[in-house]
Amino acid sequence: MAVITHARPSLEADYRTLSTDDQDRFDQLMERADHAGPHDYQPLMDTLAVLTGITGEIRKCACSCWCPVIFDADRDGHVIEWGEGYNLGRHQCGRCADEHPETA
Ligand SMILES: [Zn+2]
Ligand SMILES: [Zn+2]
Repeated sequence: MAVITHARPSLEADYRTLSTDDQDRFDQLMERADHAGPHDYQPLMDTLAVLTGITGEIRKCACSCWCPVIFDADRDGHVIEWGEGYNLGRHQCGRCADEHPETA
């Protein structure tokens, strides 16, 4: 039976495939998003979406295996730690959560 694949937006990006400039921008935007108030948060996520090609609650895997996966934490992933007083917290991507889930 033929497998029909529908074009859909990718759900993951790879940090290593970003240019060095984009990696710097990504890090800075994430840093700002972490401290941003509710009003500033979404525009930062939108900018990150353009940068990475994925949308949603953009997180980079915070696993101790230094995984480069950037993903939408609304769809996937596992919360290691909710950010106390910050927005982002620490999340693992789906694969890491399956293979070696971490807790804070
Ligand atoms: Zn991961
Ligand atoms: Zn991992």
